[in-house]
Amino acid sequence: MNSMFDGVVIDPGHGGVDSGARGKDILEKEYNLLISKYMYDRFRELGIPVYITRDSDITLNPSDRVNKVLSSFGNDPNVVVISNHLNAGKGDGAEVIYALRNSSRLANDILNNIGNAGQNTRRIYQRRLPSDPTKDYYFMLRDTGKTEPLIVEYGFIDNDDDLRFLKDNYKQLAEAVIKAVLEYKNIPYTDPGTTISDTYKVMKGDTLYGIANKLDTTVDELKKINNLTSNSLSIGQILNVPVKTIDTGETELYQVKRGDTLYSIANKYGITLKELKAINNLENDNLAIGQLLNVPSGLSLVSSYVVSPGDTLYSIAKKFDTTVDNLKKANNLTNNMLSVGQKLIIPLVEDTTYVVSAGDTLYSIARKFNTTVDELRRLNNLTNDVLSIGQILILK
Ligand SMILES: [Zn+2]
Repeated sequence: MNSMFDGVVIDPGHGGVDSGARGKDILEKEYNLLISKYMYDRFRELGIPVYITRDSDITLNPSDRVNKVLSSFGNDPNVVVISNHLNAGKGDGAEVIYALRNSSRLANDILNNIGNAGQNTRRIYQRRLPSDPTKDYYFMLRDTGKTEPLIVEYGFIDNDDDLRFLKDNYKQLAEAVIKAVLEYKNIPYTDPGTTISDTYKVMKGDTLYGIANKLDTTVDELKKINNLTSNSLSIGQILNVPVKTIDTGETELYQVKRGDTLYSIANKYGITLKELKAINNLENDNLAIGQLLNVPSGLSLVSSYVVSPGDTLYSIAKKFDTTVDNLKKANNLTNNMLSVGQKLIIPLVEDTTYVVSAGDTLYSIARKFNTTVDELRRLNNLTNDVLSIGQILILK
């Protein structure tokens, strides 16, 4: 590790009784936690010492928060603190606030990278305490000793365009910050899904090209993660080797509603309970209404199905308007046996789902698609007739 870098503290702003800013259907504390947990995992993947001030929806008062920051890697200028927030009020775009004791360089790099990720950018700035202008206005900057803290406001929660961008691109925004921190500290950055978790000892006759081929990577990737400026190698040299991790694919956000369980959400998106927990780093089955979860994006909704108790190939085929033979073929099944939790690929068919829009009722949808309210309730495990805009209903 670079000697001028002790580690990163990630601080998801607000939490618990303090929701932060409010948008139409989202609380700032939830978004902050989501982007922070992603960031935390990525720093770990990159081999950077990292600490997070909260990893669940708990209340932290300012002194708790500051104590956590100062006790993580010490009261040291080589500790970077990223406090994640969303703005509210009139405006759009991202802002970065940096401490009076620090230069503007990292704040600038972060804002530039956020801009490159496609988000509007407003400004970087410092703010002074009116009662004592030698001090920072924000406690996260004022009371965090000698560390290098930054408050990153990713956009305005009450601006529809910003909110849409934030929901679709929070991982890219997190990557923008991560990249800036690594550039600032001269540490090589690698794309998500690549971890440096293995090494290779150069043997006689090895070339970068040969090693790259053998290890299923590229010469560029090897040079990047090993800080190599030329292609020459020496026998016995130890190279870092990238290891690809499992790609969870494109995800979008799902907001937990009353009555949801992890199991029902996993089912809805055609993934297993285990997969849902893994992509959200959940250690238990607790859910809170309004909580944001990563779920596979749109397409996989109709392309896979997780077997529930009582399912048969026949019932599933019927549900998805396909045949037992098609299901068996798509899943390479040699017999009709299913096990609960098994994931099946559902051959795509048209018009099996419907996205609820304003004014829809179960009755109007049933009429439109020539089915019944009861059938819709059954297929979608609905316990009442309340629909929300954007909700996806299985029709057949
Ligand atoms: Zn905030």
